[in-house]
Amino acid sequence: MNIETQSCVIMGKEQVKVIAQQLAWDGSGTLVRVTRGGICGSDLHYYQEGKVGSYEVKMPMILGHEVVGYVVESDDARLTPNQKVAINPSKPCGECKYCLRRQENQCIAMRFFGSAMYLPHVDGGFTQYKVVDSAQCVPYPNDADDSVMVFAEPLAVCLHAVNQAGDLTGKQVFISGVGPIGCLIVAAAKARGAAAIVCSDISERSLALAEQMGATAVIHATSGDFSPYLRDKGSFDVAFEAAGHPNSLQRCLDLVCAKGTLVQVGMSGAIPAFPIMVLIAKEINLVGSFRFTHEFNTAVEWLANGTVNPLPLFSGAYCWQEVDTALRFAGDKTRAAKVQLTF
Ligand SMILES: [Zn+2]
Ligand SMILES: [Zn+2]
Repeated sequence: MNIETQSCVIMGKEQVKVIAQQLAWDGSGTLVRVTRGGICGSDLHYYQEGKVGSYEVKMPMILGHEVVGYVVESDDARLTPNQKVAINPSKPCGECKYCLRRQENQCIAMRFFGSAMYLPHVDGGFTQYKVVDSAQCVPYPNDADDSVMVFAEPLAVCLHAVNQAGDLTGKQVFISGVGPIGCLIVAAAKARGAAAIVCSDISERSLALAEQMGATAVIHATSGDFSPYLRDKGSFDVAFEAAGHPNSLQRCLDLVCAKGTLVQVGMSGAIPAFPIMVLIAKEINLVGSFRFTHEFNTAVEWLANGTVNPLPLFSGAYCWQEVDTALRFAGDKTRAAKVQLTF
């Protein structure tokens, strides 16, 4: 394992010119020197299977959508050279009906880093230099820890999921599936005032991480006793499904109380024989959650000011030359939660 520390290097005008030429950069937007990136489940799917759901890789594509770096040059006065920034990987069109409603995550022409959704594909951020819209750059203090700040994107996903559930103050919350996303939902729900956060997973290791992230109780998905939580049509006001598995969804439907809310975060294919009667009879509010909008800025703020400490989830960093080793390690769920690359 090779942990590299990156510091900002002030570049000469000539050097910037050479890089700008290589990238065919016209000077609009911001040129960022990417320093660090987190490996996400979707990167692993692209790497291992060549696709995420129905989005198949049909041409070379740079992976990565969880990246931070520092400004080399920008057309935006607030982004001075060497300012550290978290890069928001979303680039909505700004013109479609969803963008106009400020529901940018539903943009019909979204260009999201490292996504094979459209042809040509949109390159991601696992690269040393990247030109982005200046609006995609969210500055953070230069003394903040980059290995913390790189969690901005996954934390934004979780803040959006929590916002989809409504007010969590004083609520009983259940989270099924505590990989990095489930664990960050724990932290977000705690920060939003949940009274109890109970987590379930098939991995003891993941459950231990959930406890470190603020879970009030954990229960093994297959060997645990859920009967106390089944009383009175279910104990939880809100359930988050973050495993993307039919059994996990069934469990959430069973444990959420009548009139409660179930937020579907985990990605999954078709659910065979969806238990629709439970949904009807208990009048459960079933709501999806996809990416994020303004939550990215909140995530940067919360990581910079310590509201959320994601470091229990940080499993190690590799330099980019060891990307294959890093991706293989990240794919080993028995050992790794969040793996990062340095550039
Ligand atoms: Zn991700
Ligand atoms: Zn749009």
